[in-house]
Amino acid sequence: MNSYSRRRRRRQWYVGPGGLLAVLAVIAAAVLAVVLFQGCGTDAPPAGEDTAQTDGDGQTGGQDDRQPGDSQPQEVKTSAGVSCTLTDLGEEAIYTGELVLVNNWTLYHFPEEQELVSIYAEKNDSYYVAGSEVYLAPAAMEALNAMLGDFTAQGGSKSVNVVAGYRTEEFQQHLFDQSAEQNGLEHAQQYVAQPGGSEHHTGLVVDLSIYHDNGTSEEYHGTGEYAWINGNCQNYGYVVRYAEDKADLTGIANEPWHFRYVGVPHATQMVKEGLCLEEYIDYLKDYTADGEHLMIECASGTYEVWYAQGSEVYLPDSGDYTVSGNNVDGIIVTCRVG
Ligand SMILES: [Zn+2]
Repeated sequence: MNSYSRRRRRRQWYVGPGGLLAVLAVIAAAVLAVVLFQGCGTDAPPAGEDTAQTDGDGQTGGQDDRQPGDSQPQEVKTSAGVSCTLTDLGEEAIYTGELVLVNNWTLYHFPEEQELVSIYAEKNDSYYVAGSEVYLAPAAMEALNAMLGDFTAQGGSKSVNVVAGYRTEEFQQHLFDQSAEQNGLEHAQQYVAQPGGSEHHTGLVVDLSIYHDNGTSEEYHGTGEYAWINGNCQNYGYVVRYAEDKADLTGIANEPWHFRYVGVPHATQMVKEGLCLEEYIDYLKDYTADGEHLMIECASGTYEVWYAQGSEVYLPDSGDYTVSGNNVDGIIVTCRVG
C-alpha cells in the first residue's frame, strides 16, 4: 500500500526545471498580491458586515459580533437541541467514508488498511457472484444482500451476477493497459478509469451482469424485471452512478450496471434532487453546521446533515451519527434524528 501513495505523490509533486521557474513566478506574484491587498485595507467594508456575508447562511441577522477571521460560531445545535462540539478528526478523515468522490481528476487516497469481505462468503441465495475473489466493504455487502433479497422476494428471478467489486490500483492499471493494448491509448483514456481514479477502489461499488440457468450471460441494462433494482436501489443505499445525461460531469458514459453505495439517506436525496455524486458533493456545501442543516426523509428514517470544510467539524454530543469525508476538501456529518 505504501508504494501506491509514494508513486502518487511523485506524480503530483514532480516539478521539472521549467516548472520550478513557473512555481517561483507564482509565489512572487502571490507575495505581491498580498502586499497590494494589505495596502488597500482602508477600502475594505466594515468587519461586521463582511463576516456576516461570508457565512452565506443569511441567519446571523444583526447580532454578529465575531472578529474578522473568526469564522467559528460560539454554539452549534441540532434541530432537536443537541449541543455539538468542534472536533478535529484529522486530515485522513477527509479521504475516508461512504461519500468519498472518486473520478479521473479526484483520485482515491488508498488507506493503509481497508476492511473488505468476500461476497462469495457473505452473500445470500438470491444472486450469483463471479468468483470467490470479489470483495466489498461490509456496509455495501449488507445493503447488497438486502437489495437483491428483496428483488427476488418481489418476483425477480435469480439471475443477477455480481461481476466486480473492490479493485486494487494494480488491477485497474492492468485493465487500463489491456484496453490500451487492444483498442489504443485514446480509447482507454476515454473508457477506462485511470489507476486511482476508479470508484471500485473504495469497496463501495458493484458491477452487475445477468447469468441464465443455461449457462449464458448478458450485459445488465437495468431494464425489464431489473428496472426494479435501478428504481429502488436508493432505498438500500445504492445509486446508479453513471447516467447518460451526467456523462459530461462524471467523465463516464452510461453504465446502468455500476452501483455505488453512499448510504440510504444520501442515495435517497441524490435521486430526489436528480444529482450525480459530483453535483451532490457541491450541493452539500450549502449546508454548514452554523447555517441551515439539510433534512432528509428516507426509508431508514429522518436525518440531519451538514458539511464542514477541512478536518474540524461539529459533532453532536449525543445520539446516532456518522461522518464521511468527501475526498475533496471536507467532511459531512449525518445524524439520525427520527
Ligand atoms: Zn463499475
